[in-house]
Amino acid sequence: MKELKERIVKEGLVIPPNILKVGSFLNLQVDPVLMEQIGEDFANHFAGKGVTKVVTIESSGIAPALMAAKAMRVPLVILKKKPSKILNSNLYQTEVTSFTTQTSYELTLSAEYINENDHVLIIDDFLADGEAATGAIRLMRMAHATVAGIGILIEKSFQPGHDKLVAQGFDVYSQARIASMDKKNGVHFVEE
Ligand code: 5GP
Repeated sequence: MKELKERIVKEGLVIPPNILKVGSFLNLQVDPVLMEQIGEDFANHFAGKGVTKVVTIESSGIAPALMAAKAMRVPLVILKKKPSKILNSNLYQTEVTSFTTQTSYELTLSAEYINENDHVLIIDDFLADGEAATGAIRLMRMAHATVAGIGILIEKSFQPGHDKLVAQGFDVYSQARIASMDKKNGVHFVEE
């Protein structure tokens, strides 16, 4: 997606070895106009796929996922990151290791908002090793829902997440696919 790639080139900061900071428009400050364009782009890509709900992971996924949900006219469900397991029959939980902090958390879904009739679009800000997306997929299985697709804003294609998800048969759509990045040469996208 052209607008997102332009912002990454202009404002993205590469933190060696492989973290990209996009605090100025996504993670710390949010550009609502860009988020609206991102939401519409996801809605166009996944049109006709029978999506009943958009699901995202707090907190940086919420802004773009809300805009996608608005464009698709479906509710947004938020997966929470809880520090530890909570024994509660109304919750589904699964452990995920965070790529950026290398710590673990319990990704948590409130059972009342997703069920066997749902066909969900999972949206997240970044795709690196695929741990967060795989955790979200596990929660959808626990709720007996099906996955219509996975929408990612920024995919670091030099990490294994994309290939792992595609190998499992998921429709992964990433709006910006980074082939390589470093401080000196900046960000280079996968040719499409
Ligand atoms: P994965 O689970 O695919 O390894 O990593 C994806 C998650 O880690 C995303 O939810 C995102 O929050 C975080 N993440 C991974 N790589 C980056 C990065 O380069 N920059 C930022 N800001 N977050 C990242």
